[in-house]
Amino acid sequence: MENLRSCTLCPRLCGAGRLEGRRGFCGEGAEIRIASASIHRGEEPPLSGGGGSGTVFVSGCTLGCVFCQNYQISRSGMGRSVSQDELAGIFLALGEMGAENINIVTGSHAVPALGEAIRAARRAGLQIPVLWNSSAYENPDALFLLRDVVDVWLPDLKTLDTDLAARFFRAPDYPEAAEKAILAMMDMQGGREYRGEILQRGVIIRHLVLPGYLESTRKVLRWFADQAQGRALLSVMTQYTPSGGSGPERFVNTREYETVLNWLAEFGIDDGFYQELVQDSAWLPDFNRANPFSSELSVPVWHWRYGFVHDCHKEDAYVPAAL
Ligand code: SF4
Repeated sequence: MENLRSCTLCPRLCGAGRLEGRRGFCGEGAEIRIASASIHRGEEPPLSGGGGSGTVFVSGCTLGCVFCQNYQISRSGMGRSVSQDELAGIFLALGEMGAENINIVTGSHAVPALGEAIRAARRAGLQIPVLWNSSAYENPDALFLLRDVVDVWLPDLKTLDTDLAARFFRAPDYPEAAEKAILAMMDMQGGREYRGEILQRGVIIRHLVLPGYLESTRKVLRWFADQAQGRALLSVMTQYTPSGGSGPERFVNTREYETVLNWLAEFGIDDGFYQELVQDSAWLPDFNRANPFSSELSVPVWHWRYGFVHDCHKEDAYVPAAL
């Protein structure tokens, strides 16, 4: 936690005195705040499996994507403080609900506390893999603090174009930082392991296609082919949704989708996943609701306003085990 005294956890290097309650770009102090925990069925097949992925959404963010789908929790402050033991209890509850893994979303600004919560859950019996689902705008030194607790690294590679990174993510140094972070993840992981169809250990690099900016996607695919092929899986996502902000104001179209699929073939990338073309807002969450996603996509387990949520698909109310 000493890292937070003059915070340099992420590449923003704000120097904010978070232990004294000051906040940097990420908007968060010293406590961990969580918005939602649910069993999510919309992740890549070796992550969702039959039981779903135990997704935990952390409040705050080190990036400032102008089209963020999770802006309620990344920028607008939605969420509730939890102690490390409470968070460990949420991880255990997800495991007891049958989750295939614990999927921590956007926790880069809370690395020390999340690491401790995972260790507490492990001591209390958590056995499923832990996923680190991040923007990759992270310092390798901070990631190193998680080397003993993270099993699957799930970074984005949003762009390698500095102008686009400044314009859409408010971080012109994103390409350089993300490249270093992902290389560090692949070095730390050094292999891939499955139990049945479920990934137990490995790296999956996600890339969201931006409508109208296919050259950025082409650069990312070329980088993957040169630097990561054989060491990580690639996941190409098409769910970009116009938000009324200053991002692209349309969905990915069929011509763009086919172009990207052709480029995958051109670069010889065949180890990974591509999402079906998404052209509606079905993926947009609303963290005001007990279940922020559609009931087909997710089953809520914990919510920042209600705490543990009853499983509405079962007769009995769900009661989590104590630590
Ligand atoms: S984690 Fe937050 S406070 Fe720390 S350097 Fe990054 S944005 Fe600034």
